[in-house]
Amino acid sequence: MGFLLAAAALSLDLLETCQDLAAWRQQQQGPLHFVPTMGALHEGHQQLIRRAAALRQGSGQPPSVLLSVFVNPLQFGPGEDLESYPRDLRSDIDLAAAAGATALFAPSVAEIYPRGEAGLTRVAPPLLLRQGLCGRYRPKHFEGVATVVIRLLTLVRPDLLLLGEKDWQQLVILRRVVADLGLPLRIQGCPTVREADGLACSSRNRRLSPSQRQQASALPAGLAAAAAQVRGGLSQAPALTSQLAQQLEAAGLRVDYVELVAPHSLEPLQQVQGLALLAAAVHCGSSRLIDHCFLMSRLPIVAIDGPAGAGKSTVTRAFARQMGLVYLDTGAMYRALTWWVLRQGTDPADAAAVEPLLLGLDLQLSAGGAGEQLVSINGFDVTEAIRSPEVTAQVSLVAAHGCVRQALTAQQQAMGLKGGLVAEGRDIGTAVFPDAELKVFLTATAAERARRRAQDLESRGFAVPPLAELEAQITARDQQDSSREVAPLCQAEDAVELVTDGMAIEAVIQALVDLFRQRVPEEAWSATADGVSSSMACSRPLQASSSRSSTCSNPSAPP
Ligand code: AMP
Repeated sequence: MGFLLAAAALSLDLLETCQDLAAWRQQQQGPLHFVPTMGALHEGHQQLIRRAAALRQGSGQPPSVLLSVFVNPLQFGPGEDLESYPRDLRSDIDLAAAAGATALFAPSVAEIYPRGEAGLTRVAPPLLLRQGLCGRYRPKHFEGVATVVIRLLTLVRPDLLLLGEKDWQQLVILRRVVADLGLPLRIQGCPTVREADGLACSSRNRRLSPSQRQQASALPAGLAAAAAQVRGGLSQAPALTSQLAQQLEAAGLRVDYVELVAPHSLEPLQQVQGLALLAAAVHCGSSRLIDHCFLMSRLPIVAIDGPAGAGKSTVTRAFARQMGLVYLDTGAMYRALTWWVLRQGTDPADAAAVEPLLLGLDLQLSAGGAGEQLVSINGFDVTEAIRSPEVTAQVSLVAAHGCVRQALTAQQQAMGLKGGLVAEGRDIGTAVFPDAELKVFLTATAAERARRRAQDLESRGFAVPPLAELEAQITARDQQDSSREVAPLCQAEDAVELVTDGMAIEAVIQALVDLFRQRVPEEAWSATADGVSSSMACSRPLQASSSRSSTCSNPSAPP
């Protein structure tokens, strides 16, 4: 077709005008994944393209991958390197095609800003996110980035936007802008790709002389050293940041900033607490380089609460397995205790009689040989027994005692000291792990839960009561759970509500993965087939072998 210029010997469409793009866009039937760049492509960009090509949405249809190459004047300040920014479209076309891009959009400035800068509608991201870190040294930068990305998103209308975690502040800001404007697309952050010596790949690395190149490697080395210090027990921001700044200056780098901040609010932190971002920007020759690492006082925790029948355990198990997190089934703990209470011949309704049984209780969740979750109490394997109708009938009574709640909450908190788990229950986000990185309130309307319950009963060969009756039972149970005195079911203020009506299980799991990725970057926590790994050693300071602790279940347990 006339408007498509096939790049020499490569099957990639080169689009140079908005008109080209619009015509190309119209032809795309399946999902469209978009990678915006400023060109001078390197391995980091190629990794984004490869991932964009490999990701499949629900339909499983292969996506088209559009890469844009546009050196955006709006994001450069006076005296910055707009003129000397590396440009090499020929090489970009080759590298984009080799990585699997379907099309490359390389517009002129006039195409993107047809009314010039004076006639431009600008996007101003929240001040709180853009005033610190790089924003302090590049005051108009993030406004320029947000303005061009929104302009590109409007033209491209992608289903998925892929951005590098390398530009962490940019990623945080763009996530917020897209959310605040309500744009219908997902954003995926991708871990920083590094060169052999640890230096983050960057178009600006091209301008470094061999000796500057060596100086620049002090940046990732200094960050790794800071992470090692955190592993060794240092947690105070002033000590961490001043030591790193000194090391960078000693290597001959001019430091703009070294800061410890909360990764999502970007607010300065006084110490490493939960997940923290140690970020730095330096000048090396004519290049300004940025880098960061994530520091954790413990591994991430996810809290999933919600009413009965919302499908929590199925999706939580699958999510835990996918993310390499330990699955902490708090319900199984209450069931095990109930089994013990019944075995001792104690009245489950009598709190005073139950309380002594809590002393010296040995309650263990562990992984069986086939990856299944094993539950034992005081040396008895009760994996099967806790699912009996007798236990099911009494567990709510036992769990409602304050002393029981206190004892098991304390044990769950002890299991979570090192983190690396996803816990599911009724009061996880409010009482057990109020500092969890992600809290989800997983729910569905009573009508939907009644429908699911009916399906479940039918599939197991039981008589199915009328839907209205099931719905009334569910509503009554919700009422009971939410109004009981001890540990009522309630949504934590900072929990994300996920209403699963009409969603397939896979879609719910994907939504959980997306939420987790927004809170815990892949650089800080990544799961692989053989367990958990990290793209950067310093991202995982406190990982301990006990993340598959004998007191917690294994994430590879089948749903
Ligand atoms: P840029 O061309 O520098 O504007 O970058 C375009 C996209 O590539 C942004 O989403 C960057 O965060 C991402 N990116 C740049 N360098 C890297 C890297 N070393 N690793 C991963 N992503 C990167």
